[in-house]
Amino acid sequence: MKVTINQKEFERIIDYNQIKKRIRLIGIQLNVAYEHQHPIFVGVLNGCFMFMADLMKQIHIACEVSFVKLSSYDGSARRDQVTELIGLDVDLEGRDIVIVEDIVDTGNSLKHTLDLVNKQNPASVAVCTLLLKPSAVTHTFDNIAYVGFEIDNAFVVGYGLDYRGLGRTLPDIYKEITS
Ligand code: 5GP
Repeated sequence: MKVTINQKEFERIIDYNQIKKRIRLIGIQLNVAYEHQHPIFVGVLNGCFMFMADLMKQIHIACEVSFVKLSSYDGSARRDQVTELIGLDVDLEGRDIVIVEDIVDTGNSLKHTLDLVNKQNPASVAVCTLLLKPSAVTHTFDNIAYVGFEIDNAFVVGYGLDYRGLGRTLPDIYKEITS
């Protein structure tokens, strides 16, 4: 199945049923891993909003939820600079943190979020990302503990991810068709 967004063509690579199944499994893993803790899930906006909403419905342990907002993409072209638009509003000292990302591409934004979180001396930090582009990552991370899907180094939209502001509401995930 194909969609056109702002004159760019995309083809479907992951449908919502697959996403839901994967999220149920990640939820089980998180419930077990944090059974005796009281973690704070920190979502990285805007792209994480759908993933966060579906993931949190699978979490049945006591936990808190917060968000940060960063900006690093300009249309579909990468920008190296990460800008913080909304900062953290909770005290993370001594807490167990799970950072929830829509996608780890170069990893610049994750690096920035980790620096921000680590400054507050949390007890532990794990990363949960719906999508990971292994061939695009330019940093070494040892705490990406939960990954929904590993994908090719292509630009994707849908399920929270946009192309120039559009496409976020698509329930499935699509990748750009390049010829
Ligand atoms: P990174 O810093 O890892 O390169 O990417 C950070 C942010 O860029 C992600 O959280 C996401 O918002 C955006 N991004 C990265 N790759 C893609 C992509 O393929 N599609 C879309 N729509 N956004 C992306």
